[in-house]
Amino acid sequence: MKVLVINCGSSSLKYQLMNPESGEVFAVGLCDRIGIHGSKLEYEVPATDFEITLENDMPTHKEALEMVIGALVNEEYGVIKSVEEVDAIGHRVVHGGEAFADSVLLTDEVIKAVEENNELAPLHNPANLMGVETCMKLMPGKPNVGVFDTAFHQTMPAKAFMYPVPYADYKELKVRKYGFHGTSHKFVSNAAQEIMGNPENSKVIVCHLGNGASVSAVKDGKCVDTSMGLTPLQGLMMGTRCGDIDPAAVLYIKNKRELTDKEMDARMNKQSGILGIFEKSSDCRDLEMAAADGDERAELAIDMMTYRIRSYIAQYAAAMGGVDMICFTGGIGENSSLVRSKALEGLEYMGVELDTEVNSVRKKGSVKLSKDSSKVAVYKIQTNEELVIARDTYSIVKGN
Ligand code: AMP
Repeated sequence: MKVLVINCGSSSLKYQLMNPESGEVFAVGLCDRIGIHGSKLEYEVPATDFEITLENDMPTHKEALEMVIGALVNEEYGVIKSVEEVDAIGHRVVHGGEAFADSVLLTDEVIKAVEENNELAPLHNPANLMGVETCMKLMPGKPNVGVFDTAFHQTMPAKAFMYPVPYADYKELKVRKYGFHGTSHKFVSNAAQEIMGNPENSKVIVCHLGNGASVSAVKDGKCVDTSMGLTPLQGLMMGTRCGDIDPAAVLYIKNKRELTDKEMDARMNKQSGILGIFEKSSDCRDLEMAAADGDERAELAIDMMTYRIRSYIAQYAAAMGGVDMICFTGGIGENSSLVRSKALEGLEYMGVELDTEVNSVRKKGSVKLSKDSSKVAVYKIQTNEELVIARDTYSIVKGN
């Protein structure tokens, strides 16, 4: 079985051809700057360490996907003889709204239902669906499956997902907490369950810390709360997103600075978070280097970011009546020992004992970071969203 995993953005297309059962990746890469001058394809074959970058005009996603298929079947460095070897295509779709609590085979009818959520994710969903449409055109007859970022969080109870605004805003405008990064939270919480020996009852907190960041509370394998909301702006302080602030501050800043809605939106999504406080970069590595050199703003940004992660961990432990395992994942969660240790500072009262020595050594894969005496296990787990997409695609296609 070979599944092509596609993650289509407005000007990019990430892809992986993989075996959903073994997790083997045959080829991986991305098309960048689609529709913009200087578009290029990156293509890699992990088994042979072969890498190539091809510059070519890609006015639309169609040309991009044609290039991907061309590389996959290339006589010299391709990994399949013909596109017929691709059994199914799995697509990342950002917003499934309330209609999709699970991955789904994409038919014309289903695509129409997905389109109804486009308003909730105007930058992402149309691009994701463009990827689906292009695959259907270029690989007719192949099954396409949609895997939603929001689906894993659909098990949240109403007390967690409702906002205390007029009820009509929920009924008429679908305003509620949806949550994102669902495929990552699903992968990592499943891995945590496996590490624990798949007990019937479990309480896991997953901290997905990357450029975008979110925390989720997973009880008995089901998400009961998560930090992102109607949009991926709510929750933790992120690379360029502000996360939780007083909603009245938005109106205050907007009025005082005489900003348009679009400008205010950009201020919260692109100019806030680490970048907003540190001002020199949104990248956690730059931030840590500056803090080590005594940059006070960098220190402040790290303190703010980790204070908020810690607050969410404590909140979710309270929500679940305890916690068995705290997992860190994402670019920062998997690599930054500083962020992990500062986020857990002061949680000793909950039974969290970090092994600071193990935490400070960089190792690949899943690593236990807590002491054996710790009541709460702490792990770093490498996320693999593509594998979740490939596996969901495989199980849906097999079932059909
Ligand atoms: P992601 O969005 O998951 O790709 O994560 C990107 C973030 O991970 C950026 O802020 C990077 O600076 C951060 N990151 C990657 N490697 C490291 C590292 N070794 N130490 C600290 N942060 C890192």
